[in-house]
This record gives sequence, C-alpha cells and structure tokens, in this order.
Amino acid sequence: MTDVMADPRDPRPLIGEPLALDLLNTRWSGTPVNDLLAAPDGYEIWLSSAGLADRCRVADSGLAALREARETLAGAVQDLDTTGELGPEAVAGLNGVLRHGRLRRELGGQGPTEHVEVDRAEWLAAWLAVDDFLDLLDQGAHRIKQCAHEACILHFFDTSQNGRRRWCRMAVCGNRAKAARHYGKGRA
Ligand SMILES: [Zn+2]
Repeated sequence: MTDVMADPRDPRPLIGEPLALDLLNTRWSGTPVNDLLAAPDGYEIWLSSAGLADRCRVADSGLAALREARETLAGAVQDLDTTGELGPEAVAGLNGVLRHGRLRRELGGQGPTEHVEVDRAEWLAAWLAVDDFLDLLDQGAHRIKQCAHEACILHFFDTSQNGRRRWCRMAVCGNRAKAARHYGKGRA
C-alpha cells in the first residue's frame, strides 16, 4: 500500500494501511457511520486508492464480493480483539473468500513471477484483501489493532518498534483522548 498514491477524491480520514485493514477503513465513525462502499462511485475510488483500478473492473458483483470480504474481516478482527484468536465462523468466512482464487507461480524471462487466478473476476479485490490479512497474521496478529479512541472504528497495523501504537492518528484521536482526560480531571 505504501507505494500507492491514494486517489485525491478519497474522503477517508485514514488511508494507506495494508489492504485488508484499508478495506475495513472504508467505514469510519459518524452518525450514521460513513461508508465509502455504500455506492458504486465510492467503490471505484477505493479501487483507485488501493492501486487496483487497473486490475479490477467496477461491477455490482465486485462490490457485493468486497462487502462480503469486509464483513468477514471485521468479524475476524473482532475475534482477535476479544479472544486473541480467530473463531470458527471467521475462519470459515476467510476460507470461503480464499476458495475463489489461488496463486500460480511461474518462471518468466525476468525470474519467478506470481499470478493471482480467481474463478470469477469480481472476486479479485476481495481475494487480495483476505490474502493480505493472512500476511498480516504471519507478521503478527497482535499488531492488528483498532484505534483506542472509544468513538473511532478505524484499524491499523502497528509497525512501531515497541508495538505500543494506540491511535489511528495521534493528532486526532490521541489528542481527543488526552483532552477528554484533562476535562474529566477539571470537573472532579
Ligand atoms: Zn482513531
């Protein structure tokens, strides 16, 4: 994700997390909750920000697949948050998406290459997002975090050396929490 320039039309407060979490971050706090995938134009913006615009066609079926993958990932992250491991429902959901595709390795003129093959084109973005989640699990499930601010539903992958990142954005959620503590003391 980091080598991809976000689409300038992208309205989300947090952009650039690994693909699986970036998909979760298409929802962010508001009343009602903001959802970039609520309409096809937002879906197109997401594909562009995620660097997938060239590989994935904008189609209703693709949006439905992506929403399904997002639900599955949300459940999986919730499991990690509450019990530290994935429950059977999350595992079945993730495998359900993964069954739509596979990696094919090949030796090309420039060396080894990898191709993702999906059974139906609309599953490509969803499959890539869940595949990315597996990579994150490999790197450390404990680094997959939801922002510690109670009103914030954004997720990030904590790559800090001490593993103690708490906020999606220190300047926003970290300072809001600090201010809340400060006022709380004032009233006491
Ligand atoms: Zn936050």
